[in-house]
Amino acid sequence: MSNAVMNTYGRLNVAFERGDGAWLIDDKGNRYLDALAGIGVVALGHTHPAVTKTIADQSNQLLHTSNLYQIPAQIELADRLTALSGMDNAFLANSGAEANECAIKICRLYGRQKGIDQPTIIVADAAFHGRTLATLTASGSRKVQAGFEPLVNGFIRAPFNDAAAIESMSKNKNIVAIMVEPVQGEGGIQVPDEGYLAELRRICDEHDWFLLLDEIQSGNGRTGSYFNYQQSNILPDLVTTAKGLGNGIPIGVCLARGKAADVFKPGNHGSTFGGNPFACAVGNTVVKTIVDEHLPARAAVLGTRMLEGFRSRLASRNNVKDIRGIGLMIGIELDSPCGELVQSALDKGLLINVTADSVIRLLPPLIISDEEADQIVDIVSELIEAI
Ligand code: PLP
Repeated sequence: MSNAVMNTYGRLNVAFERGDGAWLIDDKGNRYLDALAGIGVVALGHTHPAVTKTIADQSNQLLHTSNLYQIPAQIELADRLTALSGMDNAFLANSGAEANECAIKICRLYGRQKGIDQPTIIVADAAFHGRTLATLTASGSRKVQAGFEPLVNGFIRAPFNDAAAIESMSKNKNIVAIMVEPVQGEGGIQVPDEGYLAELRRICDEHDWFLLLDEIQSGNGRTGSYFNYQQSNILPDLVTTAKGLGNGIPIGVCLARGKAADVFKPGNHGSTFGGNPFACAVGNTVVKTIVDEHLPARAAVLGTRMLEGFRSRLASRNNVKDIRGIGLMIGIELDSPCGELVQSALDKGLLINVTADSVIRLLPPLIISDEEADQIVDIVSELIEAI
């Protein structure tokens, strides 16, 4: 095998040639049920006809002009996302980490405008926000940080799902924001208690902090509503998403509301590729399809079906510590590291992931059938039973 690609991933020995809905086909013609969807990206499944058509049409029309000109598809996507989210405006980026960088910059600039010299953002244990220097600093895993010191100043850490711990930090006059994932993904599919986001909202309102929600993994319908926070009846000041927004086309967005929406002025932020006509045309088709086909509601139904399936099948297994999730963000925590199950699943024609060492993570496309959902439950359960 060539050494020309930098050595940053441990890769499985399989190469896919084609995709079809929830299925991938490798170069030998073997079919695999994709219960990971490119790590929560391919929400509409592989080669969705509406996405494929938009890609073909838009590539024949126009790919890129730059943000020096009006971009109608970008305006349409911003209109669509602000209407859906209750936010006021949008900055289009190319990835999740970039969307988070945008949101972090807004929090810092807001703090400095208020006269705070060292604007500081509260972030959570086990968080994952990306691999840029600021976002890896915001992340809670030493694995993503180690060796990249000096880390970026201006972040302090609190336990996840513990609003009281955050409240106890409120004497710190440098704090400008709380940044959390409403459901932690890489951290092991951690769903906080009901009321957690509402508590964070209350604390932020009390102290004039921004509530910044990273919905890069949990957004775009995956947890049963377009954004997860919509199930808590709150509005954040900033929300970021990416992954499912492009169904495979690189795109990310930072949405802002109220004071947060007015922080940037021309020159404060930018991106050469961000918001280009091509990515935005695809984003428009993806968002429209998720909404028109009621996929958030479908994700909720499928998630319940799968969780019930796992619970009835694995209830008596004492190597299963927890079965949890919301919508199609599902985690099965075992009592010991289980990374080898990824290869065992591949051998059975199923693509899964293991995160936080011992949590089987499932993020299937939102378009899977009941039968495909049951098949995922069957194969994963068989793997766990065979340990
Ligand atoms: N935030 C969350 C919650 C994520 O799950 C991820 C990616 O896994 C990121 C940020 C980083 O996104 P990207 O890899 O597109 O930069």
